[in-house]
Amino acid sequence: MDFRLSEEHQALRDSVRDFAREVVAPVIAEHYEQHTFPYEIIRQMGKMGLFGLPFGEEYGGMGGDYFALCLALEELARVDSSVAITLEAAVSLGAMPIYRFGTDEQKARWLPKLLSGEALAGFGLTEPGTGSDAGGTETRAVLDGDEWVINGSKAFITNSGTDITALVTVTAVTGIRPDGSKELSTIIVPSGTPGFTVAPGYSKVGWTASDTHELTFDDCRVPAGNLLGERGRGFAQFLRILDEGRIAIAALAVGLAQGCVDESVKYAGQRHAFGRPIGNYQAIQFKVADMEMKAHTARLAYYDAAARMLAGEPFKRQAAIAKLHASTIAVDNAREATQIHGGYGFMNEYPVARFWRDSKILEIGEGTSEVQRMIIARDLGM
Ligand SMILES: Cc1cc2nc3c(=O)[nH]c(=O)nc-3n(C[C@H](O)[C@H](O)[C@H](O)COP(=O)(O)OP(=O)(O)OC[C@H]3O[C@@H](n4cnc5c(N)ncnc54)[C@H](O)[C@@H]3O)c2cc1C
Repeated sequence: MDFRLSEEHQALRDSVRDFAREVVAPVIAEHYEQHTFPYEIIRQMGKMGLFGLPFGEEYGGMGGDYFALCLALEELARVDSSVAITLEAAVSLGAMPIYRFGTDEQKARWLPKLLSGEALAGFGLTEPGTGSDAGGTETRAVLDGDEWVINGSKAFITNSGTDITALVTVTAVTGIRPDGSKELSTIIVPSGTPGFTVAPGYSKVGWTASDTHELTFDDCRVPAGNLLGERGRGFAQFLRILDEGRIAIAALAVGLAQGCVDESVKYAGQRHAFGRPIGNYQAIQFKVADMEMKAHTARLAYYDAAARMLAGEPFKRQAAIAKLHASTIAVDNAREATQIHGGYGFMNEYPVARFWRDSKILEIGEGTSEVQRMIIARDLGM
């Protein structure tokens, strides 16, 4: 039992913390307000090696581990979640499926540019008509000679429409099994493929400096060799990807929750009411103490899930617990931080307003809180 960070992990955490404060913080409010994608920040994150953190050096990765990615996400989200989710989706949902399931050829073609941050990939699972019930996928892919012909649409796909998006991996029904169930497979669709259309970005409540689009596939043809891994393994693939991704989202949520503590301590020391800084009132101190308690315990939950994953032990339940708990307390902390800021907390120029708008999606994306409860209960044999 040792939750202290190694020297490498500490050094990474500190350098991402400095980067978030010195590079992200000064410019992100403008991107958030204007709904612009922060290309320059992403370029610098690429140079720091953040997109290659949990990957082997043979494809240009940093040779680190998934926990390193989580630490980076926590530190970024402590300042801004749009940047953090861009990294999370690029690594955990974009590059990881190719790294885990791709052929040598697919890895050699795509990973070097994805791991350097020069290019981004999206992960297209959710559809306009189905999200939690991913088995309800309706997008179809039919093998015609040596090409897949894809028809259907995907909703809310992160990193799918930036100027540097190279591809999306798409889950599609590729057949019906003898028992009548759908055979799901995953296929790589490069950006710009005829028949692949990216709709204009959504108007979102939060994460407004991140990139999210609806995608349509209309007789979109890609080579048969773009199948990712084995045919019919799509379901198993995305379950694995989402299990890991939950730890990353938990880390991101902890970052937001901790950012709420940072901003609240600062503000409570500056703002005066009834002749004293509001931080002198015990009612405010207790709020901040509770926020710190929640961020701390949620951090331990994701550390535990990540440790189990890296040890090769089962981690599904712990990842779901970490994601459920961290997203819940992120929403709690954002609400309390806004309350501590009074009217200024409702003004977009204050970071806590961003935290409040960015917190709710954490209870929805990569499996809603209800889905996390379903996973935990199922793992308990219910
Ligand atoms: C900004 C953003 C970025 C996203 N990025 C991506 C991405 O990159 N790739 C991707 O594939 N998806 C992405 N998503 C989609 C996201 O993962 C889904 O929105 C999420 O999984 C929920 O699916 P849904 O929206 O269809 O809700 P639904 O599944 O329709 O759920 C609606 C409600 O019903 C509840 N519910 C559903 N089934 C049950 C049940 N059996 N018991 C109890 N309650 C239930 C849900 O918990 C929820 O409260 C993104 C979404 C957003 C908003």
